[in-house]
Amino acid sequence: MKKAIITGITGQDGAFLAKLLLEKGYSVFGWTRLFSYDKQINLKALGILDRVTITSVDLLNSDAIINEVSKINPDEIYNLAAQSSVGISFAKPVETLYFNFNSVLNLLEAIVKVNPKIRFYQASSSEMYGKITTLPVHEDDPLSPISPYATSKAATHWMIKNYRDVYKLFAVSGILFNHESHLRNENFFVKKVIKQSIEISRGMRSILEVGNIEIKRDFGYSPIYVDAMWRMLQIDDPQDFIICSGKSILLKDIIYHCFDRFSIGYDRLRINSDYYRPDEIPDIYGDNSKAKLLLGWEYDIKFEDVLDILIDYELKTYNN
Ligand code: NAP
Repeated sequence: MKKAIITGITGQDGAFLAKLLLEKGYSVFGWTRLFSYDKQINLKALGILDRVTITSVDLLNSDAIINEVSKINPDEIYNLAAQSSVGISFAKPVETLYFNFNSVLNLLEAIVKVNPKIRFYQASSSEMYGKITTLPVHEDDPLSPISPYATSKAATHWMIKNYRDVYKLFAVSGILFNHESHLRNENFFVKKVIKQSIEISRGMRSILEVGNIEIKRDFGYSPIYVDAMWRMLQIDDPQDFIICSGKSILLKDIIYHCFDRFSIGYDRLRINSDYYRPDEIPDIYGDNSKAKLLLGWEYDIKFEDVLDILIDYELKTYNN
């Protein structure tokens, strides 16, 4: 039986990945920052909490990581833990860079010391490309991060390449574009829009207040994206892959889609420039053809259909 460690197992992707690996017959070891029952909500929602071994491991403590990796000696480590919000990274740049970089370095060092055969997946991000002028984005396009979050992911992205070249590790980056699910935290745009649209439709709030919605993003569906993560560690040759839908959608159109589902007038939308970020990528979408060709990964779902899945789920929750 294969063994996998998932850091950030309490997050959206961590929970879906744990479910996928359990279905494939893995023993799953989930690492969290502080063991807290409340934080297991996503694992509970997927009905897998009692099937994973949860341990609290401080990813900034290199000795603790070496100790835990030695005990488990996993086949694979999926590093999903990160301060993952671009918005928060502007408010907390030091914490974001410090944690997002040093945690990865500690994990790579532990693999080198304990067992260099352990395969390592790093959650990189499309945000690393910044204001790229040529679309769609390809794996080898230049990185030009424009936020502390993006800078932290770009730094680790280069470090992964470094460890792959120098120590011959099977260490790879999945360069994921935005992806959503019903497990997404409410700080994030799509979940906020859906939840507040339901509240407006039920008379519990009057308006939806948002920042810059004249920007476009490539959005996908988390349960399908985690399958690409797993596939990246199953091939013979370690390499980085872009995982995306291949199309971008205007944030305003996401709001209009939700408002239309609930027959909410567009006059209920307020733009608040206080929510604008210091800098913003106007439009970005990627090319997923390398992942489709070399990983056999498939993705063929429009984001409007993903939105409908998420709206239906949220409605069910509200009605219960
Ligand atoms: P998420 O739901 O925000 O989950 C982040 C995970 O990281 C949570 O388990 C969180 O634990 C953990 N974490 C945060 N700060 C930590 C710290 N200081 N110490 C230990 N753990 C910490 O994010 P996600 O959507 O699942 O994304 C997974 C990974 O993919 C992240 O690295 C993210 O940056 C990257 N990514 C995501 C997207 C996307 O659109 N979703 C796109 C590109 C890349 P707590 O539960 O304790 O907070």
